[in-house]
This record gives sequence, C-alpha cells and structure tokens, in this order.
Amino acid sequence: MDTGFRAEVRGWLEANLTGEFAEARGLGGPGREHEGFDLRRAWERRLGEAGWTCLGWPKAYGGREATLEQQVVFHEEYARANAPHRVGHIGEGLIGPTIVDFGTEEQRRRFLPPIRYGDELWCQGYSEPEAGSDLANVQTRAERRGGEWVITGQKVWTSLAHLADWCFVLCRTEPGSRRHHGLSYLLVPMRQPGVEVRPIVQLTGTSEFNEVFFDGARTDATNVLGAPGDGWRVALATLGYERGASTLGQQIGFRREFEEVVAAARRTGAAEDPVLRDRLVRSWIELEIMRLNALRTMSSLAAGEPGPEVSIAKLYWSEWHRRLGELAVAALGDEALVADAGPYELSELQRLYLFSRADTIYAGSSEIQRNIIAERTLGLPRA
Ligand SMILES: Cc1cc2nc3c(=O)[nH]c(=O)nc-3n(C[C@H](O)[C@H](O)[C@H](O)COP(=O)(O)OP(=O)(O)OC[C@H]3O[C@@H](n4cnc5c(N)ncnc54)[C@H](O)[C@@H]3O)c2cc1C
Repeated sequence: MDTGFRAEVRGWLEANLTGEFAEARGLGGPGREHEGFDLRRAWERRLGEAGWTCLGWPKAYGGREATLEQQVVFHEEYARANAPHRVGHIGEGLIGPTIVDFGTEEQRRRFLPPIRYGDELWCQGYSEPEAGSDLANVQTRAERRGGEWVITGQKVWTSLAHLADWCFVLCRTEPGSRRHHGLSYLLVPMRQPGVEVRPIVQLTGTSEFNEVFFDGARTDATNVLGAPGDGWRVALATLGYERGASTLGQQIGFRREFEEVVAAARRTGAAEDPVLRDRLVRSWIELEIMRLNALRTMSSLAAGEPGPEVSIAKLYWSEWHRRLGELAVAALGDEALVADAGPYELSELQRLYLFSRADTIYAGSSEIQRNIIAERTLGLPRA
C-alpha cells in the first residue's frame, strides 16, 4: 500500500479537522443527513480547495488521477478520522464520472467544477413507483419544445432531493417506446416551479429520500447526457460507478460501528450471554473476510471489467451490515426499545439498526444481486 500517500491524507485531515470542523466529526451519516448541513457544506469546500474531492477524475477537470488503491486509502483514512459525512457524494461518485465519460466538453466545463467544491448538489432520478428493480419500466417522459426539454412524471426514493440543486433524470423521450429503448438521460435543475419535492418520513424519523413530481419541469435542450434515446447505456454506466472506491473503503466505518456494538454489549452485560458472544465473533470474522474480498475486488477493478465480485461484495456487505444492526439491538437489550429523548431522538445504534434495513434494497436489492450471480456466474437459467 502507498504509505507516503496515506501519511499525506492523514496529516491533512489531522491539520484541518480542527476548530469548527472538529465539531463536525461523524456528523451526517445514514439517517442523520440533516445534521450540521451548513458546516458539512463548508467542509466540502475546504476539501475541494485542497484537492481532496474527486480524486480519481482526470487532472484536466480538477481531479488527481489517483489510482484506485489511493482512492481506497483516502476513504479509509477519511473514515478512520471520523470526518463528516460528505454532502456531495452523489455528484462526486455518480454523476461526475458519468459527465467525464459521456459529457460534451461544454457540459464538463459547466458541471464538474461546482461538484468539486460542493457548490451544486445532485440527486439521482431513476426509481419510480413502477420502476425499481425493473428500471427499464421508466414512465416519466420528456418532450422537446423549442430550445428545451419539458418533463412530466414521478420519481420516488430520491435520496437528498430536498437538498439538491440538480437531478439526473432517466426519462422516456420517444413516445410509444418500450423497455430500455427510447430513454434519455437529462440533467434537470431542481429549483423551479415544475418540480415538487415531498419528503418521505423513514423508520429513523428523518427523511433521507423523497418523492419528486415533475409537472412541466424544464431544462435546456443541451442538458442531455449522451445522445437522445441512448439514456439506458448512460444510466447503466452510472450504476457501475455506484459500486466504486468509496464502497471499498467503507469497512473502516463498519469496524467503528462494530466496536460500538461490542462496547454496548460490555456496558449492558449482554456480553455475558454465550449466544451473543458467538454472534459477535462470527460478525468480526465476516468483517475480516469482507476486507479480504475488498482487496480482491480492487484487483479485479484495476484489471478492467468488474466481474461477479461486485455483486458478491454488495450482497455480502449489505447483509452483514443489516445483521450488525440486529446485533446492536441485542447488545442494547431493553435500552433498544426506548428513545434517547422525546419525541424520537435515537441513539447511534438504534439508528444503525433502523437504517441498515435499507442496505439490502438500494443499489440493487439482495434478490437482484443473487439473480445476477445465479445467471452470470453459475450459468443458471434466467429467473
Ligand atoms: C435508502 C434508499 C435510498 C434510495 N435512493 C435512491 C435514489 O437516490 N434514486 C433512485 O432512483 N432510487 C433510489 N432508491 C430506490 C432503489 O433503487 C429501489 O428501492 C430498488 O431498486 C428496489 O426497487 P423497489 O423499491 O421498486 O422494489 P421492487 O423492485 O418493487 O422490489 C420489491 C421486492 O421484490 C424483489 N424483486 C423484484 N424483482 C425481482 C426479481 N426479478 N427476482 C427476485 N426478486 C425480485 C426485490 O428484491 C424486493 O425485495 C433508494 C432506495 C432506498 C431504500
């Protein structure tokens, strides 16, 4: 591993996570997106100015052309420092690389710099009430009128739409087209009269995701990524970036959560229970396996095309994390049932339990990952 690079990242984080930013440590995790938002946005700018966002992007667009290994090191050190959860991860991790690969030069110059500094935040408008796992069933439509696209339809589960300035919207631009044909990938400004965002209250009591209604929303005709009608190909490319380096570095955060669960089990006395001890040991072993699998995935990604490792990794970490949430509840014992404070203030471990229920759904549910492994790796007939 690149020890010089690791020391540089660690040193920078130590020197900069000070003053007001020291207060932001750990803020804003899943189910806690509302925490310290302005402060986290200021932190995003600090990171961007120092060149610590968008590490893998080409230098021409403000990146460092960091290797995958360096990106993983960065994410590991970031999690180790318990630095604030990023406000711009959808821009940096999903739409940014898609614009780099599919955008025109003009689109790159327009959209990439504000992503680097967190000046413009993005959300992902794929899922609809009738198009989740079956994404090709997208019904939201857009038509060209003069110099604009006019968009009508509904998206759902749109993470952070309430904070976003822009949305990348998969929509049908060829009337009468079916499945993955006739779709386009539009970049749509969120702050306009034709866009209505309705937050959905989740188990955590917070609203990480939303319904988004487009009713004659508009975007400039130039804001299509890739050719009109070729949106499916672009949309799949974005999904490929979703499982990138940040996911590989996430185990450091998992390890911290695991240690908190162990500490809770010690504190409440649940650690005396032999069955719970077994479950904790098993969980720790699985965490080690996950680390080794991450290294394997990294080598396969570095070698080019991602193989089944990507689906195995998603299935493995999400199922593990959900079980960790269940272990947290067992470790807390009766405490798990009582809110920290009224009306619904949850402790970190209660939140971990509730939010981790979603891990096996987003970014491709466990059932879909198993289908992929069954068909592409085991050669079983299509489900
Ligand atoms: C926390 C969270 C954040 C999200 N953020 C976003 C976002 O920002 N943008 C966005 O566009 N979407 C987002 N999503 C949506 C997510 O991509 C979908 O929830 C997911 O694709 C599943 O779709 P669905 O909810 O419509 O369930 P469905 O597709 O209706 O599935 C229901 C159940 O049936 C199973 N199932 C479906 N098809 C098959 C099959 N062929 N074989 C076996 N089982 C099957 C599924 O696994 C699931 O258990 C988010 C979801 C969550 C939970």
